[in-house]
Parts: sequence; structure tokens; C-alpha cells
Amino acid sequence: MESKAVYLTELGKMEFRDIPVPQIDSNEVLVKMEAVGICGSDLHYYSHGKIGDFIVEFPFILGHECAGTIVKIGEKVEHLKVGDRVALEPGIPCGECEFCLSGQYNLCPDVKFFATPPYDGCLQNYVKHKASFAFKLPDNVSSIEGALVEPLAIGINAARTGGVALGDSVVIFGAGCIGLVTLLASKASGADQVIVVDLIDKRLEIAESMGATTINAKQKNVVDEVLALTQGKGARVVIDCAGNNTTIAQTVQVAKAGGNIVWVGMATDEINGMPLGPVSTKELTIKSIFRYKNLYPTTIAAISSGKIDIKGIVSNKFKFEDTPVAFRESYTNVKNIVKSIIVFD
Ligand SMILES: [Zn+2]
Ligand SMILES: [Zn+2]
Repeated sequence: MESKAVYLTELGKMEFRDIPVPQIDSNEVLVKMEAVGICGSDLHYYSHGKIGDFIVEFPFILGHECAGTIVKIGEKVEHLKVGDRVALEPGIPCGECEFCLSGQYNLCPDVKFFATPPYDGCLQNYVKHKASFAFKLPDNVSSIEGALVEPLAIGINAARTGGVALGDSVVIFGAGCIGLVTLLASKASGADQVIVVDLIDKRLEIAESMGATTINAKQKNVVDEVLALTQGKGARVVIDCAGNNTTIAQTVQVAKAGGNIVWVGMATDEINGMPLGPVSTKELTIKSIFRYKNLYPTTIAAISSGKIDIKGIVSNKFKFEDTPVAFRESYTNVKNIVKSIIVFD
């Protein structure tokens, strides 16, 4: 077996290198990659070399949304076999800290997460992974859908954290991949009206095709428009997937009294101008989420049962050999490329 990996060698530059096929431990599986999604965080490392305190040391392998077929299993692995197709949950927590022991393993300070420095990602032919974080895909879930389990788990976490329920009105800021999966998860949870706000028409078109009412924030006053669409009351659940000053401040303005706000987008700015009065007078609940925990089985079941059709998220497919082109285009053409997927032979 031969393996190649695509390395980020400097900002905006990638090259293929031959690497050894990884050796597995007794509790691990070796997976031949079939599909890897390009995420906003991958593009950020590609263009800026860092996210917050996570700083890339070159060369570095990107990619954390992935699925493939098991080609080898460790001798202690019992729930999987060679030939199974699996989605890999990208973060392996330590299993021993207070967060891991309380089930909040997404908060583990020692998590080893694909493509989060210093840990390499999965844009390579063969990846080894702890078997307990490899989830078997049913026959009716493709490997491309398997790669999309990762972002969809975030959307399901966002909708659950917001308490989205039957008949709800929901506002989602941002119609990138995470905004769109949050839309799908909200609809599947029973939301009646989902209003999606963005600046890019192509994204809003996709949101509309998935059942959203949309607002282009360049053309309309977002707060007025949401109030007009909700009989002047605002939305019971407001989810920010954009993470910027303007949208986070607006979450408070468009929320209905007694409503829930969830911050999903990673805000890097400090927030000025957020009206705090309504947080009290409307008795709002503000929560945030970081990735997801214990949600891969639920997410896979939602796709397999047809409750969520995730395929429409993918706007562009590229071959593994064309990964450098995929990154260049996804980075420079954000207006038209919503979600790229790398497909292996
Ligand atoms: Zn991602
Ligand atoms: Zn831990």
C-alpha cells in the first residue's frame, strides 16, 4: 500500500508527498479515505495559518470532515470489520479529565482533533483512528454524506441547544455550510418558519431551496424584516452561525421575549454596540456551543432515515489530485462555492 498526503507547505501553497501508511494500535482502525469536506476552518488555516491560539507549523495536513472504508482493524476492535464504511469523528479526547468523565468530551483540553495544530488532518489516502470514534455508515448513506456528518452534527447540536421544537420560528444568521446544516436540523426538529440571513445571493438561494425564508442583509434592514415576518414578535430561537459583531448584536434584537439565542459562529471580535437591555426585559437565554458530543449516531440515523437530506449542501466536488485547486477556488470564489468535497478514487 502506498499513501500520499497533501501538505500545506506555506500560506496558500500545497504539495503532495509520499508518506508511510500508518501503523495501527490494537484499539484503532486503518481507513482508506473516500471523501473529505473542506471546512471554513481549513480555509482559514490555508489563508492565515492560524485560528486564535492554534498556529500551523508547516508542513501541515488539513481536513477533518471525512469518511472511508476500513482496510485493517486492531485486534481489540470488535464492533467493526474490514470493508465497513465509516465516518470518523475527528476529535479524540483524553478520556480521563473532568470534562471527559462528565460526558462533555468536546471541552477536553487535551483533545487531538484532525487538522487542529499540532495534529495533522485527513487529506491523505490512509488514516488511522481510534475505533470508538469510527461510526459505521448504513448502505444507504454515501461516503460523501458520511463526510458531511461532521458539520451536520454541529447543526443538530445548535438546534437542540436552542430547543427548536414543533411550530417554532427560527432565525439563522449565516448561510454558509454551518448555517445551512442548522437550517436542515431546525426543519427536521419541527420548526415552522426558518428565516436565514446572509449577504451572498447564491447561499440564500440554496437556503431557500431547503425551505427557508431569506433576507439579504445588504438589501434589507434585518431587524425590521424579521419583525415583519413574525407579526412583530421576533423569533423564539435565534442561532448565529456568522460570528461577527453585527450579527451577534442582532441576535438580541430579533429574539422573541422568552426566547433562546445560540452562538455557534466563532466570534473573534470584541462586541460593541450589543443592546443589553432586551436581554433582561425579554428574559432571553443566551447559550453557545463548541463542536458537538455524542451526536454521530443520531446524525447518521437522521441521514439514513431520510429525515435530513444533506446532499444539497455540496456545491462543488474535486478529485483528491486536485486538492490544491479545490482550496484555491474555494478560498477565492466564496460567492459561488458554498461547500467543496474532495473525492478519492
Ligand atoms: Zn468542519
Ligand atoms: Zn479529557
